[in-house]
Amino acid sequence: MAAADSGYIGRFAPTPSGYLHFGSLLAALASYLDARQAGGQWLLRIEDLDTPRNLPGADQHILHTLDAFGLHWDGPVIWQSRRLEYYNSLLADWLQRDLAFYCNCSRQDLKPFAGVYPGTCRQRHLPADPSHAIRVRVDGRLIRVSDRLQKPVEVCLSTDPGDFVVRRRDGIIAYQLAVVADDVAQGITDIVRGADLLDSTARQLWLYHLLSAPVPRYLHIPLLLQSDGNKLSKRLGSTPLEANQAPALLFQALHTLAQQPPAELQQAPVKEQLDWAIAHWQPGHLPTAGQFSELFRASH
Ligand code: GLU
Repeated sequence: MAAADSGYIGRFAPTPSGYLHFGSLLAALASYLDARQAGGQWLLRIEDLDTPRNLPGADQHILHTLDAFGLHWDGPVIWQSRRLEYYNSLLADWLQRDLAFYCNCSRQDLKPFAGVYPGTCRQRHLPADPSHAIRVRVDGRLIRVSDRLQKPVEVCLSTDPGDFVVRRRDGIIAYQLAVVADDVAQGITDIVRGADLLDSTARQLWLYHLLSAPVPRYLHIPLLLQSDGNKLSKRLGSTPLEANQAPALLFQALHTLAQQPPAELQQAPVKEQLDWAIAHWQPGHLPTAGQFSELFRASH
């Protein structure tokens, strides 16, 4: 598809460790509606780097399901597993400029520090070794995370989590690196995704800084929680979406996103529902986490 005039480029970036479920439909739908209302492009990227966690066939199932829900993407699908050379070239550059370093600390070594890296290998200048992790250096500045929906937060990465991993000890490129590398390479201007990733955003902004790349706008949609505050149970939230239930589930998703779809759309084909939803998309109506779950329960 030709580049959209609006300049907006959004994306959906699922991890194929499982099939799409209702929670992932909400994230896909919100990012799709935001992009389409802006007259933008909506790209699809399969984040399949954590190979031990990949569920065979899940990527094809995700493509098929999005299609059945009318969530058609622009351009070719990208699989991260085919882009290792690109991520490794960024790592080589950072190592060479001393923005990153090798670290051979084991999980056991780091256990007493409760997730905050104590800087053990920072000045050790360990030689290249494929069995070492690679961490990027952070500093003490405050990083401001701004979001269209969530309250702004300021994060000092050197306090928490410290220099963080961009290539794991098992050689796998870390999510933080790959997601930013590809969002930059694909020119993504707007990231709409679940609030479970809010925590990662400051680290990702640091990587934009290292790449001297312009940062995207963020919109983190609330997480669907059970009434006891826990993440959705398997039964409620993790059952794979059934393509043949697409119209009913799409209506339910629009309702859960507080878009107030008119009742007569309930049985309408997905295309008709999406046309209505693009025209009426109101991100400002997105509920807070508690209301979100209420809306979801009410739609059952
Ligand atoms: N691949 C990530 C996930 O499925 C999402 C990445 C992102 O949207 O930044 O949780």
